[in-house]
Amino acid sequence: MGFCMSWFKRDGGEYGPGLRGAAAAAESRVRTEGLWIKCAACRAVIWKADLLANLNVCPKCQYHFRVGARRRIEMLLEPGYELVDGGLRSTDPLNFTDIKPYKQRLKQAQSQTGLNDAILNATGRLGPHEAVVSAMEYAFIGGSMGAVVGETIARAVDRARIGRKPLIIVAASGGARMMEGVVSLMQMAKISSALAQLDSARVPYICVLTDPTTGGVTASFAMLGDLNIAEPGALIGFAGPRVIEQTIRQKLPEGFQRSEFLLEKGFLDAVVHRRQLKSYLIRALAFLRAPTGS
Ligand SMILES: [Zn+2]
Repeated sequence: MGFCMSWFKRDGGEYGPGLRGAAAAAESRVRTEGLWIKCAACRAVIWKADLLANLNVCPKCQYHFRVGARRRIEMLLEPGYELVDGGLRSTDPLNFTDIKPYKQRLKQAQSQTGLNDAILNATGRLGPHEAVVSAMEYAFIGGSMGAVVGETIARAVDRARIGRKPLIIVAASGGARMMEGVVSLMQMAKISSALAQLDSARVPYICVLTDPTTGGVTASFAMLGDLNIAEPGALIGFAGPRVIEQTIRQKLPEGFQRSEFLLEKGFLDAVVHRRQLKSYLIRALAFLRAPTGS
């Protein structure tokens, strides 16, 4: 470091311009680092702009990076879509604190993601089809489902039923939000019963399971679609592998709880590459098209 510092030394004094030089160097290093990202699967260093242009899929090994709710909606719906049902915020009913207060966690997640909670509803056109899309945001407290996520998804379901528009839910969740206790568990029943009404109304519902979809979300709406499809390599399960291994006292097979394994065992209808996802959904909706009238 001492050797390095000498590069920035100025005659005008060691601490004045010298420090500024070091700060500028640090800043430019940060900026350069921000342009590149390392693939979690193949360790290739990818230019972020390339990754973005490739729908957040590694161009070398096809590893699917996570995608936020807003970007997901942009990827699926045509420009001119409308964001809806965004007005809800959690009231922290239990006044919950773990290592920090839940209120503080919420505030932090809200400022980091620009969302009120881990969900975004939109209506618009998916190719030629009018559709309702509800996309979960993993970056918001692990995409966990509390009262706001539950109610927002239930509203998307009702919107689809009343408007007779097919529903697409893009799941990305660590499960129920423990900071809301039993309130978060009740969301599973609420959404499931709304989906039963949607089914009776014969309006199609497709669930897209993305990395990761776990816990109560998998145990309720994420597996209730007319079609349940997943992105490649997504972690999908109820309990984590360690918990299961400890319970059944057996080693789990390779690739357990990944999309491809679940497809092979009959839990999913398809595993679809992100590049084909939109065209796949358009074809599926044409096939499932909601009958008009009763
Ligand atoms: Zn890769």
